[in-house]
Amino acid sequence: MDHLELVKSTEIYKNCKNIVVGKGNEDADILFVGEAPGKNEDEQGLPFVGKAGKNLDELLAKVGLSLEDVYIANILKCRPPENRNPLPDEIKAHTPWLVKQIKDIKPKVICSLGNYATKFFLAGGDVDLMDSQPGITSVHGKVRVINFEGMDIKLIPLFHPAAIIYKRELLPLWEKDMEIVKKEIVQRTL
Ligand code: URA
Repeated sequence: MDHLELVKSTEIYKNCKNIVVGKGNEDADILFVGEAPGKNEDEQGLPFVGKAGKNLDELLAKVGLSLEDVYIANILKCRPPENRNPLPDEIKAHTPWLVKQIKDIKPKVICSLGNYATKFFLAGGDVDLMDSQPGITSVHGKVRVINFEGMDIKLIPLFHPAAIIYKRELLPLWEKDMEIVKKEIVQRTL
């Protein structure tokens, strides 16, 4: 099955209004990866257009970046009911599309947004290893090269923009982490 058929084979596809693929610049050096579409994203067919998305726009502007500089996608391409956590089988079926996006975009840096996406990448894409990975609080802003689907990718985990809405103390940490991201993209690729 190809990546689209795999997504369509999952139960959550039946109840979603739109498959949410991504937005931004497909030639960008930075790829942001969130968890899954929410209600607004499902309705509009675009990632990060709700409250978290508005905050992400503001956060990007604060560090002098825009959608021209990044591409934004999610682990899951369809909204899970009631925004519940993704299930292992859903991650397995939806992430071949993400792998294709990474291969097409060839970003210099991947920024996982929040715990879920971070654990996915730290586990090298192995869903069964996600639970044993460290949380975002201990790994945010740390650059590491991980082997993912035969690629060496530079990962810099960031706090999820939704978390920064409620925990304003995370804002200076986000700004500091983004300086690290910006520094990495002006350096040579691996
Ligand atoms: N949160 C996410 O992780 N992704 C979205 O697209 C929206 C909110």
